[in-house]
Amino acid sequence: MLQQTTVKTVENKILEIINIFPSFNSFKNKRLDHLLKVWSGLGYYKRAENLFKAVTIINNSYNGELPDNRDILISLPGVGKYTSSAILAIGHNKKSFPVDINVKRLIQRVSGLKLNDDKIEEILSLACKKKISYRSLAESMMDYSSIICKKNNPECSKCIFSSFCKSAFKSFKNNKNIKRNNKQIDFYLIKSPLHICFIKKPKFQFYKNFIHLPSNLDKAFIANLNLKNKEKIKSFKFTITNNLFKINVYQLKLKKLKINNSVWIEKSKTNQLALPTLFKRILN
Ligand code: SF4
Repeated sequence: MLQQTTVKTVENKILEIINIFPSFNSFKNKRLDHLLKVWSGLGYYKRAENLFKAVTIINNSYNGELPDNRDILISLPGVGKYTSSAILAIGHNKKSFPVDINVKRLIQRVSGLKLNDDKIEEILSLACKKKISYRSLAESMMDYSSIICKKNNPECSKCIFSSFCKSAFKSFKNNKNIKRNNKQIDFYLIKSPLHICFIKKPKFQFYKNFIHLPSNLDKAFIANLNLKNKEKIKSFKFTITNNLFKINVYQLKLKKLKINNSVWIEKSKTNQLALPTLFKRILN
C-alpha cells in the first residue's frame, strides 16, 4: 500500500477502518461497498474484497473467531503463506516466522547470503528453540529492519549486529529507478442538470468492485454520445501499481439519456458513493 500512498494516509485509514469495523461481528449485516467506502484512497481494492470475503467465512464457519490453524488460514481468500505466518505469530503468538521484505533484508545482510523465505524461516526456527514471544520477535525484526537496516543507507553505526554482520558499512545505493508503464486514458464526465453518468461493466481494468466513470476504453458506450461538444476540463498524472496514467478529463453536458450500462447518480449524492481516489479526483 505504501507504494501508492503515504505512511500517514495508510495509518489514518487503518485507524478509521478499525474504528468502523472493530470486530468480525461488526461486519455482519454490512455489504462490501460499506468497506470499500472507508477503504477508498488506500488502493489495492482486491484486498478489501478478500478481507470482506474472509471475514464472512470466519463469521459463518468459525463462530467469528480468527482460526489458529495454518491450513484453515491459507484456505481463506487473500491469505497466503506470509499472511498466515503473520496471523499465527502476531495474532496468536504461535511459533511462526513471517518473512516480509524487511525481515528478509535483515537476515540476508547479516548472513551475507541470498536466502529464500523458506530458508530464513528454517533458520529462525532453529535459532528459537526455547519458547519466546513469537509476536514480539516478528514485530521487532520488522521494525528493526525498517528503522535501522533500511533499504538505502542502513544505520550500521547504531546497529547491534554490526560486529558480525557480513554487510556492515557496505554501500547500498539509493535506487529510485522504478520502471512504470506510461499510458493515457480519457475519462468522460457526462452531466445532466441534476445527474452524473456512471457506467456498469467498464473496460478500465482497475477498481472492479466500484461504479465507474466512462472512458475511451468503453467504445460501445462512447459510440452513443455526440462528442463534438466535449470540453477538456483537466489533465493529471496518476499512478496505479506500476502504471503511470496520463488522465484527461472531458466534460459533456447532455440531457439525461438512457444508454445501455449507464447509471445516473444525483450530483448531490456522489459524495456518498464508495469511489476510488482517481474518480474522486476527476469529480472534484
Ligand atoms: S550492520 Fe548494517 S547492514 Fe548489517 S544488519 Fe546492521 S544495519 Fe543492516
